[in-house]
Amino acid sequence: MPMMNRRLLMLGAAALTTKAVAPWRASMAQTPAGPFTLPPLPYAPNANEAAIDAMTMEIHHARHHGAQVAGLNTAVQNQPQLAAMQLDELLMRLSQVPEAIRTAVRNNGGGHANHSMFWEIMGGQGGEPAGDLKAAIDRDLGGMEKFRTDFNAGGMRVFGSGWVFVTVTPAGALAITTRPGQDTPLMDGARVLMGNDVWEHAYYLRYQNRRADYLASWWNVLNWEKIAARYAAARDGTLRV
Ligand code: MN
Repeated sequence: MPMMNRRLLMLGAAALTTKAVAPWRASMAQTPAGPFTLPPLPYAPNANEAAIDAMTMEIHHARHHGAQVAGLNTAVQNQPQLAAMQLDELLMRLSQVPEAIRTAVRNNGGGHANHSMFWEIMGGQGGEPAGDLKAAIDRDLGGMEKFRTDFNAGGMRVFGSGWVFVTVTPAGALAITTRPGQDTPLMDGARVLMGNDVWEHAYYLRYQNRRADYLASWWNVLNWEKIAARYAAARDGTLRV
């Protein structure tokens, strides 16, 4: 066997036996493993079947979000002062990030924050919130029916790829807003209560171009207990991403 082929085989065997190489990282051998990490899905991939199919959940989490975590780690790998920061601090201080990596931090860091929030608030049965959060929705967003209508309309207005969010102030005030790409209200110093991903990768397998149907179905898998916990954390000053 020619020496080059034998060496390639050995390299291939080494790659196959390397432990804990997740699928989305198998082709990114040079990517640092931290400091940022992909949070596991807090439920089975089929837990949101009422709105999102399991294959979409798996691809979205492992590959799309996974690639953003890897991209963020690559961007900060020679920047120990940035690598030591919490994700929300990093996104709130993008103007202090060196220009050469600022776009990479913005896109990958924003995506890491947005998707981490997105997984957290699903896995539920929909329905409606109660208590302080319901009172805030009634006060600031005109009640649940108007909230759903306005939030979905915001998602429809995003041209191309982006997100629709509800922001929350330390006093508990709510507002609907949208951002393009992987931008997040964290970049403007605001906190995010909840948000929906309207990139086509979030819905295309089941809904194709029917974004409105995806937006309407998404409410059926929200976990209002998790969202209420985020609301309480925002008012305590402990909500991060
Ligand atoms: Mn996404």
